[in-house]
Amino acid sequence: QNNAKVAVLGASGGIGQPLSLLLKNSPLVSRLSLYDIAHTPGVAADLSHIETRANVKGFLGPEQLPECLKGCDVVTMDSLKYCTGYVLGMTRDDLFNTNASIVATLTSACAKHCPEAMICIISNPVNSTIPITSEVFKKHGVYNPNRIFGVTTLDIVRANTFVAELKGLDPARVSVPVIGGHAGKTIIPLISQCTPKVDFPQDQLEKLTGRIQEAGTEVVKAKAGAGSATLSMAYAGARFVFSLVDAMNGKEGVIECAFKNGIEKNLGIGKISPFEEKMVAEAMSELKASIKKGEEFAKNFK
Ligand code: NAD
Repeated sequence: QNNAKVAVLGASGGIGQPLSLLLKNSPLVSRLSLYDIAHTPGVAADLSHIETRANVKGFLGPEQLPECLKGCDVVTMDSLKYCTGYVLGMTRDDLFNTNASIVATLTSACAKHCPEAMICIISNPVNSTIPITSEVFKKHGVYNPNRIFGVTTLDIVRANTFVAELKGLDPARVSVPVIGGHAGKTIIPLISQCTPKVDFPQDQLEKLTGRIQEAGTEVVKAKAGAGSATLSMAYAGARFVFSLVDAMNGKEGVIECAFKNGIEKNLGIGKISPFEEKMVAEAMSELKASIKKGEEFAKNFK
């Protein structure tokens, strides 16, 4: 059943290109539709020469978007208006107005042309772009919360890597669940639930948690004005899509953390530590405000 039809919206960007490459490299994908407002014919021609079975097609500009989306099983969205995310010191909130309208426009097209597809939103601020997507789907009468995901996999990938580094473990065998949202203090790594079990003194635990929460800034600083995390994000996005497709193909026991609409308390993760409980309590007001901001935006969006 390896026949997933996947669309990448924002396919020519820093994340979009390596993400498309990883998807093209997967035997799970049979059709790869690349959409952007620039450069997709080139990106698609380039990828189409790779000797894997996924059929690649590029779609350029809003008039080609419906064709791109029709029949898709999975849509990933990593679009952003050119350059706005790159300025050091800019917060995810600064990106809000630019990205909110792009996400609302693209998700309206998804609601119309592939209402049954799994929608994976990478575009920031994820804590608000998920409520926007959910409201847009509600407006079109096709809302299903089980099909809309905020991709926070990079937080999990970073947590696994950093824990493995500190403990001298193989990162591929470390699994840290990360709950909450995808911005600063709303990112809540549950180190107490790590597999294998790991222990840190409190000061090291706090430092590690802070590093996971601010890891995006580490990359922005190191790239010195030339962008934010793109390669590790492409890896994380692809990992999420592959897990999703595996689950859609009936594989059991596939677990991925993601940001879903609404605030739910029972996460089925087990008993978390008092330090983690405190982080959850502290994140609530910011999360609620970001969700509200997204919902209000979507209500007024025409
Ligand atoms: P980028 O600027 O390199 O690429 C964005 C692409 O979107 C460009 O190719 C651009 O042409 C395209 N685009 C702009 N407007 C569009 C529209 N209306 N329709 C379709 N495409 C459009 O940016 P990037 O570094 O690839 O980042 C993309 C997004 O991912 C940003 O919002 C960024 O904040 C977010 N991001 C999320 C995570 C995460 O963990 N979820 C991590 C890193 C980055």
